[in-house]
Amino acid sequence: MRAVVYSGYGVVPELAQVADPSCAADGVVIAVGASGVCRSDWHAWKGHDPVDLPHIGGHELAGVIAQAGPQVTRWRAGDRVTVPFACGCGQCEFCLAGEAQVCPRQTQPGFTGPGSFAELVAVRAADTNLVGLPDAVDFVAAACLGCRFATAFRAVTAHGRIRAGDWLAVHGCGGVGLSAVMIGVALGAQVVAVDVSAAALDRARELGAAFTVPGSADPAVAIAEITGGGAHVSVDALGSPATAACSVRCLRRRGRHVQVGLLLDGPVPLPMDLVVARELEIYGSHGMAARDYRPMMAMVADGRLRPGLLTGRVIDLADAGRALAAMDAPSRDAAGMTVISVAVSPGGV
Ligand SMILES: [Zn+2]
Ligand SMILES: [Zn+2]
Repeated sequence: MRAVVYSGYGVVPELAQVADPSCAADGVVIAVGASGVCRSDWHAWKGHDPVDLPHIGGHELAGVIAQAGPQVTRWRAGDRVTVPFACGCGQCEFCLAGEAQVCPRQTQPGFTGPGSFAELVAVRAADTNLVGLPDAVDFVAAACLGCRFATAFRAVTAHGRIRAGDWLAVHGCGGVGLSAVMIGVALGAQVVAVDVSAAALDRARELGAAFTVPGSADPAVAIAEITGGGAHVSVDALGSPATAACSVRCLRRRGRHVQVGLLLDGPVPLPMDLVVARELEIYGSHGMAARDYRPMMAMVADGRLRPGLLTGRVIDLADAGRALAAMDAPSRDAAGMTVISVAVSPGGV
């Protein structure tokens, strides 16, 4: 098959011919239809989140099952599917409880093994990890569901428990943040979006944010004024000491902070004095397990959520390396998600 191979950290990856992945007894091999290019891929490619080299990145995928292992009961070749970025083992107490997003033995295509910047990608424990795609959802729109969009959905709904009329603050308007804006608006929340980039704030307004706050001022003060006392729910979609603390400080009494942005540099201080005095709730959110996709997929299929609006450019596999390199400029995220489209041959490969 053809795949985009990282030969070294920061070296622009090239399209190469490599061996097809093998199919585990409990797994599938998916013919990739589309694969998002995410900042997490960029972190792996740069070596911030180390991977075994040479490596094939890509974790935001949708496609068609080309081959299913003999132990797979729920899926067969030809099914259109996507997967969460964190794939559970299917056997531990967390997976059996439906919480594969925190499986201690999770695999992540594109990080722990070869990913979806390729014509084929293997996924294990298929009965635990695959999500069926409704016909109404195309591969390019579906490609961002497994990472940024699903992560935002779970942050806003399961942890944030957002209700119509609530104030939702979103710190950082890249892929996850803009997804959170769209989801909050669709659920009837009043959204305040924060970013240092004017272009990102423009996108947030286009997606329905009622207010935008430049990240340069103290956003917590501005949010308290706009909302008359603070946000009911606040999401740090960026992941930095400043945005995490600001997200906690901007909350209304009894509000809920959800940390989504990865804090790769280690622990960060949070204002725990406010957490006590205002009875705030603090959550970490790590993707979304396949079994929890149903309500989100229903909203995507009937058009209440339109992840396709978050797509900036659709490119070929051969351009994936250049798309990763373009992420060296942080402002690149404001232009929307880049998605690789791969031609899927009918009936698999
Ligand atoms: Zn991602
Ligand atoms: Zn597990």
